[in-house]
This record gives sequence, C-alpha cells and structure tokens, in this order.
Amino acid sequence: MTASAARNVAVFGATGSIGASALDVIARHPDRLRASVLAAGSNVPALLALCVRHKPAHAAIADASRYAELRDGLRDAGLSTQAHAGPEALDALAAGDVCDTVVAAIVGAAGLASTLAAARAGKRLLLANKESLVLAGELLTGIARDSGAQIVPIDSEHNAIFQCLPDAACADALRRIVLTASGGPFRGWDRERLRTVTPAQAVAHPRWSMGPKISVDSATLMNKGLEVIEAHHLFGMAADRIEVLVHPQSLVHSLVEFIDGSTLAQLGLPDMRTALAVGLAWPQRIESGVERLDLLTQGRLDFEAPDLDAFPCLALAYRALRAGGTAPAILNAANEIAVSAFLQGQLGFLAIPALVEDVLAALPSQAADTLDTLLEADAQARRLASKAAATTTIGA
Ligand code: NAD
Ligand code: MG
Repeated sequence: MTASAARNVAVFGATGSIGASALDVIARHPDRLRASVLAAGSNVPALLALCVRHKPAHAAIADASRYAELRDGLRDAGLSTQAHAGPEALDALAAGDVCDTVVAAIVGAAGLASTLAAARAGKRLLLANKESLVLAGELLTGIARDSGAQIVPIDSEHNAIFQCLPDAACADALRRIVLTASGGPFRGWDRERLRTVTPAQAVAHPRWSMGPKISVDSATLMNKGLEVIEAHHLFGMAADRIEVLVHPQSLVHSLVEFIDGSTLAQLGLPDMRTALAVGLAWPQRIESGVERLDLLTQGRLDFEAPDLDAFPCLALAYRALRAGGTAPAILNAANEIAVSAFLQGQLGFLAIPALVEDVLAALPSQAADTLDTLLEADAQARRLASKAAATTTIGA
C-alpha cells in the first residue's frame, strides 16, 4: 500500500488504555496507517506527549478550559499539529475529512456524541466505547446502516464474534452466542467477602490492565452485563440467545454456535492490540505486536457458570435489556455514577449493584425512539443516582 492510500485514523480517548494499544498498532504500520487526530478528555500533558510521538495533524481536548495549554504546548514542541478544544470540536473532527477511521475509545456516555458523529459521516468505526451502544444501540446501529459506516467491535468478545461471523449471510443460521468472562479479580468470592473490597483491589485485574471504570465493571460483572446489551445491538440477538460463561484464563474470547451443531471460537492472548489490528486492517490481517498463543504452555482451559448471587449486576443488565426502551440507558447512567462514587471511596462495593437496582426500580422504562428521550433518561438517572450515592451508607 502506498503512503497516499494510508488510512487516516482518529483516536478518541488517545490517552487511555485502548488509545495506547491503538497507537501502538498504528505506529507499527506507517505505510498503511496514520494517526491523523488524537483526542482526550482533560489530560493535556499526556496528549502533548502523544503528539510529539505520533505527529497528528489535529489534537483535541474535550475540556474547553484547557485550549490555550494545548495550543501553546504544541507550539513549544515545534509541532504543526492544530489544537482544538470542547466536545463540539471532537464531534466535528470525528465527522470531518481529516479521518476515514475513528477509534471510539472514550470511556462512558461521554463518548456517545463523537461516536454518533463518526457513524453519521459513514466512517469506519472501531467501537471500544460500549457505553454508547448500551445507551443508544438502536439509534447508533440504525445511523450506521443508513450512512454505510462499518462498525468493527473492539471489545474483545464482540471482536471475536465479528471474526467468527464475518458473513451476514450466515446470521440466520446462528443459534446463540456465548460471551466469555474472566470472572474478574473476585471470582469465587461470596457477598460477605465482597463487602470490604477497596478500589485498589477492584482495579487490579488478574489478567490485564485497563482504565479504572472498566476495571470496576469487570469486578462487579457489570462489564459483562453491558457486553450482553452490546452484543444484542451488534448482532441482533435476543437476550435469551446470549449466554455468559466464566473462563478465567481469558484465552477463548467468545463463541458462536450455529444450528448445525458447529461452534466457532476465537482464541488469542488477552491483549487488545489483536482486536484493534483486526479493526484497522479488516478484511486484511496485520501484525499487532501480540505474541502467539502457545496452548501447550498455557495448559488448561476452564469454564464455569457466573455467580449471579454474588454479582447481581449481570442479572440487572439482562433485566434492563429485556425491559428495553430507556432501561439500558438508566442502567448505564446509574452504574457510571455508582462506580465513580466507589472509586472516590464514597460507596462500598456491594452498594454498586444496590444503587443501580434502586434507580432502575425508581425510573420505569419508557419507549426510546429519539436521542433526546435517551439523553433525558440518562440525565434523570444520573441525578437520582448521585442523590442516592450521597445518602447511602458506605457499605450498603
Ligand atoms: P481509560 O480510562 O484508560 O481511558 C479513557 C479515555 O477517555 C482517556 O483518553 C480520557 O482522556 C478519555 N475521556 C474521558 N472522559 C472524556 C470526555 N468527557 N471527553 C473526551 N474524552 C474523555 O479507559 P479504557 O480502559 O481505555 O476504556 C475506554 C473504552 O473502551 C471504555 O468504554 C471501555 O469500556 C472500552 N473497553 C476497554 C477495554 C480495555 O482493555 N481497556 C476493553 C474493552 C472495551
Ligand atoms: Mg470485553
């Protein structure tokens, strides 16, 4: 591929864990991939360091108050990178000619607007931001269908299914999909033991390092719940055809079962660069920096059922998916508030599912045919959850 045919990739959430993995893969292929836009939330020094290394044409910081710091930092580093700030600037870059591919790796509902902007503009969308699918899955997939935007899921489970199911023609022959789950750092713990879990324990994942929010979600199993909803939207499967299987080695990234008795799985070491390489080069394959999987040295593969008593978040997510309408948006918003309060030491670990359950019960699901309805449900759930978090006793 010649330099002029290189893909221009915008990395949204560049300073995060997925952002780092995406930039690592991009830098391995200067002939075919170029980081043309780097965007982040508020950490200007980290964004500047990435700009020095990757020399994008554009850099954007969502926190508008930090524009001058970014602009001056780029100038002082002798870079010709153009500075932008504010959420609208991020949306405009996602939709603009400066990129043909967008890595959507902002954490939380904050990633929705730029993800929708990229989808509307028909970009190839490497979707790591699962919260935008949970919040507005029908809307997002509908927009992508209309604009011709190709969504490549980056969440490793969905990326695995995408790889097992590249041909839409065989979608009718699907019996069910099975999402694997590591079980998180507290697999096998009962509720009594979970009561005293600290933020430091929750973010220390046994198999890999991720951002703090998804690490807590992984520990409560809400991450798997969000992924069930994500799978529903990406692959058009009803809740009762999506199963979760705990697989502590995290080598089988998910399975797809067909009506003829055949089950396909995708395997690999747990390293997000594989999924990102798939998304960046699809339908071709490129080197990602991930070591080869040697099953002989890995040894055994174990599978077990998830413990829904100790980890009720997974059941709550199924419940929200079945309720439909605004329920998944409410679930997601309440969870974001609860996780953030837990990380700040304001809530106990078991209070996360309790708070999400209370907010879901207090706000009955409504039909969600517009973005405004969903955003209003999101805002309402955040208000209620913040109030509840402020008044809940810590261990609840
Ligand atoms: P992270 O916390 O490491 O990084 C988050 C990024 O989002 C940062 O670059 C931050 O600057 C940016 N950001 C935060 N708030 C923002 C805002 N308001 N506007 C713009 N940017 C903002 O998180 P992560 O682990 O890289 O996860 C990113 C997303 O990818 C999440 O949705 C997560 O669920 C998903 N994901 C992550 C992994 C993983 O292995 N880390 C795996 C699967 C899916
Ligand atoms: Mg995942």
